[in-house]
Amino acid sequence: MCGIFAVTDNKNASKLAYVGLFTLQHRGQESAGMVSDSGGRLLYYSAMGLVNEVFSNEVLANLKGRSVIGHIRYSTTGSSNLKNAQPLFFNSCLGQLAVAHNGNITNAGRLRAELQKAGAIFQSTTDSEIIIHLMAKYRGRNLEETIAKNLRRLEGSYSFLFMAPGKVIGARDPNGFRPLVLGGMDGSHILSSETCAIDVVGGKTVREIEPGELVIIEKGKARFKRFAGAGSFTRCIFETVYFARPDAEIAGRTVQTARYEIGAMLAREMKDVKADIVSGVPDSGTAYALGFSKESWIAYQAVFMRNHYTGRSFMQPDQALREFTARLKLAPIKDLIRGKSIILIDDSLVRGTTSRKIIGSLKKAGAKKIHMAIASPAVISPCYYGIDTPTKEELIANNLSIDKIRRFIGADGLYYLSLESLVKACGNGGDRNFCTACFTGKYPTKITSQD
Ligand code: SF4
Repeated sequence: MCGIFAVTDNKNASKLAYVGLFTLQHRGQESAGMVSDSGGRLLYYSAMGLVNEVFSNEVLANLKGRSVIGHIRYSTTGSSNLKNAQPLFFNSCLGQLAVAHNGNITNAGRLRAELQKAGAIFQSTTDSEIIIHLMAKYRGRNLEETIAKNLRRLEGSYSFLFMAPGKVIGARDPNGFRPLVLGGMDGSHILSSETCAIDVVGGKTVREIEPGELVIIEKGKARFKRFAGAGSFTRCIFETVYFARPDAEIAGRTVQTARYEIGAMLAREMKDVKADIVSGVPDSGTAYALGFSKESWIAYQAVFMRNHYTGRSFMQPDQALREFTARLKLAPIKDLIRGKSIILIDDSLVRGTTSRKIIGSLKKAGAKKIHMAIASPAVISPCYYGIDTPTKEELIANNLSIDKIRRFIGADGLYYLSLESLVKACGNGGDRNFCTACFTGKYPTKITSQD
């Protein structure tokens, strides 16, 4: 998962992009980068680390120019190193060009092999670089036509930002898996993975970029162009369940409101389960638990002290680090737990190892009973669209029955939200256009090859 942000026609472009990327930091913490358009010459900077570690005042001052595209990275394809940091920057036969990508190209392996066979030399191991080599090979009459014709060769998920001198172009894949939103502010245009970053920089959200649509921003104006027909809109439901910030708006409602509603749905589906308190695994579990509490009249209690300085366990690409941070980040508050029977809500259950540790720590702190409630259905299939879920074999729900999972995690009860309730809550009762493949195994696009 990654975050992308662009701002155009603004004298403070690099500073605004910094604030935008900082707001999107939850989407990726490995590397950060920006490319700015300084009077027709593109300037580039990226480094490993968090946004506030990568960009000093001096670096931002050097990124002169009134338009900037930026990226923060969490790797799903290609390893975690500086070569793979984005935006990727090229001096190509098309002139200076930069690209920032959120998503995962599912036919990347085949396309890369074809391009290499024809002589292309790749500078990174990311799937994102493929679009640039395709563009260099198959050209149209102008940049937007070149982008449009080559996007049609890609399968999988992508929200792209392109920058060439005088132009910023955004694109969203025909299924709209990953988000891309257009905003505006005093003559500037903004493109962002989430609406919350537009709010934080002081802009206003205009609208989502539609699936299969390009937005071309040049000379202070935005134009729209379709590069693919309106396919089936299947935005990733996991954006609401886990990834997006609570103040981001998706499908017409904030993520926080959707999570409250999901919690209430869970309470309705678990109406026969009795407990003294309901609590959530921070951070996303808290909103679910508050919604559950309101619906069930079971008192909400925060039972964990969350250490905010450890990073997100799901986001750490390395298993050893993931386990270490999981242990470090949540400490039970013992006297709120002792002798209590607790409904504990988490967003999802993937491997089961984190739940096992959390439940173990609550039991050790004296909890009488733990009913584990999951705010989504069982994850049975991997994601090929840019979220780092494990292989099918590593997904616990793929190998064990619900009762065996319950025993493995050490819970007294285990409950999953139904898919029907999840879709209803995320879609505000109306919008049902979601990818739910990790819960159903039914992928909205063909999965051809993987790197
Ligand atoms: S498979 Fe799951 S995580 Fe991946 S895009 Fe679909 S809903 Fe999102």
